[in-house]
Amino acid sequence: MSTEHGFDTLQIHAGTAPDPATGARQVPIYQTTSYVFKDADHAARLFNLEEVGFIYSRLTNPTVQALAARIAALEGGAGAVCCSSGHAAQIMALFPLMGPGLNIVASTRLYGGTITQFSQTIKRFGWSCTFVDFDDLAALEAAVDDNTRAIFCESIANPGGSITDLPAVAAVAQKVGLPLIVDNTLASPYLCRPIEHGATLVVHSATKYLTGNGTVTGGVIADSGKFDWSASGKFPSLSEPEPAYHGLCFHKALGPMAFTFHSIAVGLRDLGMTMNPQGAHYTLMGIETLSLRMARHVENARAVAEWLDADPRVASVSWAGLPASPWHDRVARICPKGAGALFTVALKGGYEACVKVVENLKVFSHVANLGDTRSLVIHSASTTHRQLTPEQQAAAGAGPEVLRLSIGLEDAGDLIADLDQALTAASA
Ligand SMILES: *Cc1c(COP(=O)(O)O)cnc(C)c1O
Repeated sequence: MSTEHGFDTLQIHAGTAPDPATGARQVPIYQTTSYVFKDADHAARLFNLEEVGFIYSRLTNPTVQALAARIAALEGGAGAVCCSSGHAAQIMALFPLMGPGLNIVASTRLYGGTITQFSQTIKRFGWSCTFVDFDDLAALEAAVDDNTRAIFCESIANPGGSITDLPAVAAVAQKVGLPLIVDNTLASPYLCRPIEHGATLVVHSATKYLTGNGTVTGGVIADSGKFDWSASGKFPSLSEPEPAYHGLCFHKALGPMAFTFHSIAVGLRDLGMTMNPQGAHYTLMGIETLSLRMARHVENARAVAEWLDADPRVASVSWAGLPASPWHDRVARICPKGAGALFTVALKGGYEACVKVVENLKVFSHVANLGDTRSLVIHSASTTHRQLTPEQQAAAGAGPEVLRLSIGLEDAGDLIADLDQALTAASA
């Protein structure tokens, strides 16, 4: 499928063709672990990456491969790798770049689980992370040192829905010669295409909008194929002979596909964070309607955010689509089709009111997920951002006085009526 086609065509056709064996029009679920080799020589060529083919489903599987190719097309990347969750995608994205004693610089405005992964868990690998406010470009550049190997942010950030100035951040990354990794989960490639703004790698929690209905846990990394892994000597796993793959020089041998092949041949092979074919199938089904869903998510988010913003019981609404948002001027430039559908609402009644609203909502579900057809609500400070210090919570936009809303695809009027009755119950 040519990438000349429009987004709506690519989201249905990219990466797939009628099944060569049966003519099946929909992508079959290849529920198999292994693939019969034609002969010993064929097997050897596959293991040497001299011929691309299927060996074992921890590495590649035709259903999972179809999803990877579709996301690469939608993100405008050279290649993509699927993995078992969004968090797996983050570790897999960093894995070829990092080593003991090395660090990354990440935004303070991130999903709470990512802040915990980066501030605590990666230390076990000898990696570390410095967090800075990415609206302060001088601070971002100053945080980079000789041991920094990547810059990490979210395009639209969880939970506040703030928008990162990707071209400005990418310019800093380019200046210091480091790859920019953008978590595009909240935007999806329909609202934002980070590679067009200078991102090197795009990571996703496919659990969210890509699948779109709360059925799958999955992750993806799309690679722009544009970063020169050999220029600085800082990325030996990609530029030098890789001892974990019989001395193959991935960048020299595979050019723009170096990162993708390394992630499969070494990352998935040895870390085993593999997506299963059934999960890939559900995500492929979800992506077929991505543009239609995202447009409606944004339309409903606008209706709900505007209503809340005008309500006297509400202190503030963080949705970047509102003209008063400090990130409003970035919407047209970075997310031209809309500011997404995840934001926080601060209640004048503070923590107590937040708890009562959550308990009284009927259409909204109280869950730790987002990007579902259903509207969802959570009190971030006591859940998704619970492991954070009060300072980290405030910097991430997840203070105790805010609720996070993920606006679904129901009738906007029903969502507003539900919020209205819950706010009334909370103030009674
Ligand atoms: C949910 C989420 C993740 C983690 O993804 P999982 O699939 O839950 O592992 C990472 N980043 C963002 C922005 C998320 O919303």
